[in-house]
Amino acid sequence: MPLVAMSEMLLKAKAERYAVGQYNINGLEFAQSFLKAANEERAPIILAASDRLVDYLGGFKTIAAMVKSLMEEMDITVPVALHLDHGMDVERCKKAIDAGFTSVMIDGSHHPIDVNIEITKMVVDYAQKIGVSVEAEVGTVGGTEDGLVGGIQYADPHDCTRIVKETGIDALAAALGSVHGPYQGEPKLGFEEMELISNMTNVPLVLHGGSGIPLHQIKKAIELGHAKINVNTESIQVWAKTIREVLAVEGTVYEPRTIITPAKEAIITVVKRKMAEFNTSGKA
Ligand SMILES: [Zn+2]
Repeated sequence: MPLVAMSEMLLKAKAERYAVGQYNINGLEFAQSFLKAANEERAPIILAASDRLVDYLGGFKTIAAMVKSLMEEMDITVPVALHLDHGMDVERCKKAIDAGFTSVMIDGSHHPIDVNIEITKMVVDYAQKIGVSVEAEVGTVGGTEDGLVGGIQYADPHDCTRIVKETGIDALAAALGSVHGPYQGEPKLGFEEMELISNMTNVPLVLHGGSGIPLHQIKKAIELGHAKINVNTESIQVWAKTIREVLAVEGTVYEPRTIITPAKEAIITVVKRKMAEFNTSGKA
């Protein structure tokens, strides 16, 4: 099954009140684990490469080729989108699309809204004519974004409406109190603003920083129009924790396969739990 854009899967998810998870690739074993979990759960899935990790992962072409080959070798029969997370500029988004990514996020959220709309429109013009979906961001997600630690800045509903109407994006990340990386205390999502933005824009919303948000808040975010939830911290934390345990128990172990395989299993378990929580299981 070829890679698909995320537009259709998100519209279906929004209509049926569930959310498709975006899981970030941090190496080959992550991609393998995500695809295995999705196929076994019969769940649509979005695999993403964060722009700041693209070079580390071997470049756009390597990432696209890796995911496509794995889908073939693993006989993956659920819808899979390959998405660029936090694309830094228009050129990077174009490079990803040219390499075979089926979806991109252009993150112009640190610019004034007029500039954000302008660069987002440039990406949409390039992407949508070849069937690639586009996500944009308004406001500031807390924690680490593009390697910069920043405070939370709520998305302005008027800005959200403008960017959706003026660019024709497929999905909108409206920052409403979520955080990249671990949360300090219970997250406080702005549900009133969320409802307002969802009603005003009527576009699938994206929740960044989905790791560590309590399930009742996740459910409410889905009710209020979130069709995509990004998960990274939980998979990399369980990966590191499992490897630490293996190394501690078997002090002389050195074979990569012996060390990494339990970490792969742990990632699969986390992703399957997320698919159950987001109600994505069985939707493919
Ligand atoms: Zn993010």
